[in-house]
Amino acid sequence: MEKIGFIGLGIMGKPMAKNLIKAGYELAVYDVVGESVAEVAQCGARAAASIEDAVNGAEVVITMLPNSPQVKTVMLEEGGVLGCAKAGTIVVDMSSISPIASQEVAAACEKKGVKFLDAPVSGGEPKAVAGTLAIMVGGDADAFATVEDILLKMGSSAVLVGDVGSGNVTKLANQIIVALNIAAMSEAMVLAKKSGVDPEKVYQAIRGGLAGSTVLDAKMPMVLEGNFNPGFRIELHIKDLQNALDCAHSVNSPIPLTAEVMEIMQGLKVAGMHTNDHDAIIRHYERLAGVEVRR
Ligand code: NAD
Repeated sequence: MEKIGFIGLGIMGKPMAKNLIKAGYELAVYDVVGESVAEVAQCGARAAASIEDAVNGAEVVITMLPNSPQVKTVMLEEGGVLGCAKAGTIVVDMSSISPIASQEVAAACEKKGVKFLDAPVSGGEPKAVAGTLAIMVGGDADAFATVEDILLKMGSSAVLVGDVGSGNVTKLANQIIVALNIAAMSEAMVLAKKSGVDPEKVYQAIRGGLAGSTVLDAKMPMVLEGNFNPGFRIELHIKDLQNALDCAHSVNSPIPLTAEVMEIMQGLKVAGMHTNDHDAIIRHYERLAGVEVRR
């Protein structure tokens, strides 16, 4: 079994690392937050004192960091992964970052004989804990085949989508579809309320038809309860939509609806709701129409 260095033990990284330990892999774990390292070490990992310490002796290095700048720091800067990884190491970056950044990091890896896969995930903390994430991968098919078993200890599916960057393009597609679904749900349900029709009955009436969706079933019950606790924070979704806009502009593929929802989220951020769940998009529509969609 491969030895794994795991860097980034936040909301997602911690349970993912713990699932690998449970599956019998030998892990060395590192995060800038010492308590997180100690917590995962208690489950059977070796607590690494630095990135170098986590990477030394590892055949596979997994990173789960906030965004492109952190991935570039951890991979490329002095004391980073590429300074100490031996040729043949496979780096799997599972963070949701810009596909352009993934390609830049992959190019630097190639110069050192290190293989790089971008492998972001969907499913949030509950699925990270359950080991049932959906994993979307970009990169070399042989490297993917080598790490597939590892990925399937953290997720219930791992699909190789294409070359490096494809994993993050897929994740951006996922995030666009989710954001626009929540906005459409919000627009429709505020209209129902303003028209004097019970939004809960509207939800029950349409959820089995073409407008039904996983997003509707996840978010509408939360809205009816007035539950805006994350889940997935507005500020993280803003990060993903910014990456989507940057990527779209770089390939000349306009995404006007995404831009509109991005500005709605920016308004919510200004109003202090950046740490709300993204179901708070409905609060924007509620303020416009002067109603609340609650049970
Ligand atoms: P998080 O902020 O909880 O965790 C990130 C971790 O990286 C933190 O523990 C932080 O200390 C660590 N870190 C930052 N810089 C570092 C450095 N230089 N060296 C070592 N460690 C460093 O974020 P998260 O919620 O775990 O998300 C991680 C990624 O997964 C993000 O890209 C996010 O968009 C994506 N994601 C999150 C969710 C979710 O529901 N939270 C769902 C799917 C995907």
